[in-house]
Amino acid sequence: MSLPDSRVDLAIVGAGPTGLFAAYYAGFRGLSTAVIDSLPEAGGQVTAMYPEKMIYDVAGFPAVRGRDLVNALVEQAAQWKPTYLLGRKAEGLDYLDDGLEVTLDGGDVLRAGAVLITAGIGEFTPRPLPAGDGWLGRGMVHFVPSLRAHEGQDVVVVGGGDSAFDWVLALHPIARSVTLVHRRARFRAVESIVRQARELGVRIITDAEVTELRDNGDGALGEITVEVKGGEKLVLPAQSVIAALGFTADLGPIENWGLEIDHRAISVDSTMATAKPRVYAAGDVAAYPGKVKLIATGFGEAATAVNNIAVALDPDAHLFPGHSSNAE
Ligand SMILES: Cc1cc2nc3c(=O)[nH]c(=O)nc-3n(C[C@H](O)[C@H](O)[C@H](O)COP(=O)(O)OP(=O)(O)OC[C@H]3O[C@@H](n4cnc5c(N)ncnc54)[C@H](O)[C@@H]3O)c2cc1C
Repeated sequence: MSLPDSRVDLAIVGAGPTGLFAAYYAGFRGLSTAVIDSLPEAGGQVTAMYPEKMIYDVAGFPAVRGRDLVNALVEQAAQWKPTYLLGRKAEGLDYLDDGLEVTLDGGDVLRAGAVLITAGIGEFTPRPLPAGDGWLGRGMVHFVPSLRAHEGQDVVVVGGGDSAFDWVLALHPIARSVTLVHRRARFRAVESIVRQARELGVRIITDAEVTELRDNGDGALGEITVEVKGGEKLVLPAQSVIAALGFTADLGPIENWGLEIDHRAISVDSTMATAKPRVYAAGDVAAYPGKVKLIATGFGEAATAVNNIAVALDPDAHLFPGHSSNAE
């Protein structure tokens, strides 16, 4: 799709699980679709934060790896050829005589008959590792898109939450060494995974901070300095530092789209419609009494939203889509 001068029936803001399933569903309803995401890859929180973890509560899958679920959603949607606008942030929303327009970063405009916001918790920004400034992508990472990239490495994980311990446990079998550094004595992570890491003999350094990252002479990360409370300094080999310090999430420009915002989410009715005509929301970003933020919930909401959008765009259309099992 060349922007500007492009128009689709439905613009979906957010390519997480909810947006991807909505893209499938929109195609099933005969709607042309563009899916916008500020991240360079589809999959939302799953791809960014836990692609290698197993998920156990997606209907029909006793267990599915995050990455595999996202790949399957992309494949399912692909039959209807949605356009992906990845690495593009949706910044503005305005009405036209015959629909809406979404303004993207850089000023490009996408016109659409309706807009479905599946922006999850918004844009998420990892909390920085102060000493790691300048090392991002050169040995320091915030997420682990591929465990294999750390095979045979000395890995230092910084943080004390579930994600930090998840990476420790996942990398322990394949890395040369895994060390966890945490600035407090207590952990936020659940006790069982802390115990598991200890039982595996993972080196855990508490009350300590990474104060310096140094290269190995070739520009790549080689070692780090850790300062322990009381003044002791440790030098550790490290080809990889994973800064798992949590993240901040922000709905950003969407908060200025004139929607009703409730605790950093968008209020919707039972059709997933927002307070603005032809603007719908589904998934983690949609708020209503009793809301439960789960992948499974987002899937159901995507189907409800798209079927109602089909009727909003064509009042002669049926709300009930028919059964996909009857489709050719
Ligand atoms: C560590 C962890 C483990 C989890 N485990 C489970 C589990 O086992 N089971 C379960 O059901 N749920 C789990 N969840 C929650 C689950 O990941 C979320 O409920 C799900 O990802 C919500 O999907 P979504 O598509 O609504 O939003 P998201 O996955 O958040 O996707 C929203 C997308 O919108 C994009 N976006 C936001 N604003 C803009 C904008 N202005 N312009 C362009 N793009 C934008 C974001 O970049 C993001 O890619 C877990 C979450 C985490 C963090």
